Amino acid sequence: MTRVAFIGLGHMGGHMCRNVITAGFDVCAFDLDAGALRRARETGARPAGSAAQCAAGADMLVTSLPGPPQVEQVLTGSGGAIAALAPGALVIEMSTSSLEVGRRAQAAARARGVEMIDAPVAGQTIRAESGTLAIYAGGDSAAFTRALPMLEAIGDPQQIFHLGPHGSGYAVKLLLNLTWFVHAVATAEAMAVGVKAGVDIDKLHTALVNSPANSNFLEHDVRSVLDRGDYDEGFAMKLVTKDLGLAVDLARVVGVPVELAALVEQIHVRARSRYGDQAGEMSAIRLYEELAEIELRWHTSS
Ligand code: NAD
Repeated sequence: MTRVAFIGLGHMGGHMCRNVITAGFDVCAFDLDAGALRRARETGARPAGSAAQCAAGADMLVTSLPGPPQVEQVLTGSGGAIAALAPGALVIEMSTSSLEVGRRAQAAARARGVEMIDAPVAGQTIRAESGTLAIYAGGDSAAFTRALPMLEAIGDPQQIFHLGPHGSGYAVKLLLNLTWFVHAVATAEAMAVGVKAGVDIDKLHTALVNSPANSNFLEHDVRSVLDRGDYDEGFAMKLVTKDLGLAVDLARVVGVPVELAALVEQIHVRARSRYGDQAGEMSAIRLYEELAEIELRWHTSS
């Protein structure tokens, strides 16, 4: 049986780890949070006392961590997991992180005879729970093929994409999030202005959805706000601003000016400072509601 070390058991990783166990892997788990580790034990994982202890003897290491500093610390910091892996092991790094930290970790892995792919995910906690995440992978074809049974335990097989060499997964995931948060701000502005101009919100939404200006965000994702004022706390503003900052950093590294992305990032930084680190990912919409002194909710209950 393939022995798996799973590190990072938060909103996403907790569900992902349980799905890996359900798929029949032998899982040892670690998280700094004792509560998260206890919940993983209850689903069948063997708890470890440190990242290195978790990784020792594993065939595959899976990580789902907040961002670049934690990825660097867990993989290559003092007492890090890569140094504890045996040569021939495979690292599947599934956090939304930076290409730069990924490159450094991959170099450390290569020096130890360990393979590594980046495989960040999309789909919110609901799809982490159902094991149907979208996965954006970067790395060698052979390493990707080896990782596939694990990825299929976590994601929807139709939405597991091998995008190119190491770092491609991180890049695509950052750009996907950037585009989604641009849509969130555009939707908030259009709906706040429309409602203030006296247009019925139900009719405004229907007209926009049936126009060339439609987006997935407008048609589907904004509905949790319109239905019940739910800004989705499953993905915290602390992580949202981390992702948007990484996307703007990436643009800077490759030398492409991204005025819109930088502005949208700052709007989300404002929303985080207004509503807190743990506020839901659609909190930017609340800023517009507050500015316009309205609540964006259906006029009729639908
Ligand atoms: P989270 O903050 O809920 O979970 C992260 C976990 O990592 C926590 O349990 C924390 O205790 C643990 N951790 C932090 N540092 C650690 C260390 N040094 N050693 C061991 N454990 C450590 O975050 P999340 O929402 O589960 O997101 C995880 C990753 O997935 C992030 O990179 C995020 O951007 C990405 N992501 C999240 C969502 C979402 O909807 N929540 C969706 C797609 C992608």
